[in-house]
Amino acid sequence: MNNKELIDKLNTQKALSKYEWVQLFRSFSQEDRLYAADLARHIALERFGKKVYIRGIVEFTNYCKNDCYYCGIRCSNRNAQRYRLNKEEILSCCDEGRALGFMSFVLQGGEDPRYSLEQMCDIVRAIKQHHPDCAVTLSLGELSEQAYKALYEAGADRYLLRHETADAAHYAKLHPESLTLAHRMECLRALKKIGYQTGCGMMIGSPYQTPECLAEDMLFIKAFEPHMVGVGPFLPHKDTPFKDCPPGSYETTLFVLSLIRIMLPQTLLPATTALGTVHPLGREEGIKAGANVVMPNLSPTAVRKKYMLYDNKICTGDESAQCIACLKGRLAAIGYEIVESRGDYSAVGDR
Ligand code: SAH
Repeated sequence: MNNKELIDKLNTQKALSKYEWVQLFRSFSQEDRLYAADLARHIALERFGKKVYIRGIVEFTNYCKNDCYYCGIRCSNRNAQRYRLNKEEILSCCDEGRALGFMSFVLQGGEDPRYSLEQMCDIVRAIKQHHPDCAVTLSLGELSEQAYKALYEAGADRYLLRHETADAAHYAKLHPESLTLAHRMECLRALKKIGYQTGCGMMIGSPYQTPECLAEDMLFIKAFEPHMVGVGPFLPHKDTPFKDCPPGSYETTLFVLSLIRIMLPQTLLPATTALGTVHPLGREEGIKAGANVVMPNLSPTAVRKKYMLYDNKICTGDESAQCIACLKGRLAAIGYEIVESRGDYSAVGDR
């Protein structure tokens, strides 16, 4: 089968074999990519119209106990200027976000044990109390099942935990020994079982990634049926062991976004900040290739430059209000608009 036939097969059967995925990732042309983007865009238009959901990210701590080789806030980076936001600061980011039309907040941070489970639950409860009509997403890394449960009971609706790569050997090349794919997967299964709308995802072009790794990612995503999938290019950070590695490919990232949309028509798929960093029109092109979510930053301007997962991250000098105004303009330029909505996952796929 040629690549176009494989993409058609994915569209009708919603699955490919490992062998077929590998062929596609090894040999796709720009024409194949644009063919997939066209299909994916139409699928997204059918489900979501020209409407894009927004999530406001509050990057509340850049302390991290982990040492992931790719990440700029890894614990051994002595050059990172560390910060933490307290409950009041986090709440005021959400208040500001709500006033700007956000109804979905993502608390993301390094794995920072300084926040106790009780404190995190208290923060989640406070956000839900102030904004009962809004959704809270957590992105706090790997915790125990009991902790995930307590946070869910405190009111958290969603959890983002990228699997990073579904190939165990590749996972071991990106992380120290203390972190394993098996445990990451265990966390993902626990999150889904508890009832979270759960997001997995991976970087495109991370060091040592092969077409086989991407094939494993697609098979995993198909089997796991996540509610959200976060995909962006790997980008090097100057203070990490991967500082000299090349960035992930912009085109491959767009292709993967389209393939995920074709495979899982109803999934929530962000055009990520990393995609907007690797190319000035990355987020717009992501939407045109099948994504339906953008995740602007709601962190206080004073800390934005400190949450540097990779070099040259965009929007770190802006106020939240500027960011949303800028995005509205960018989306309007391609004929899309931001909706004021929680943007929940819907299995039936109606608007
Ligand atoms: N501590 C949380 C949040 C991690 S940061 C957790 O473990 O889930 C969110 C995501 O940023 C990561 O899952 C990773 O996929 C991505 N990321 C980290 N460093 C990156 C880099 N150098 N380039 C691109 N994406 C990166």
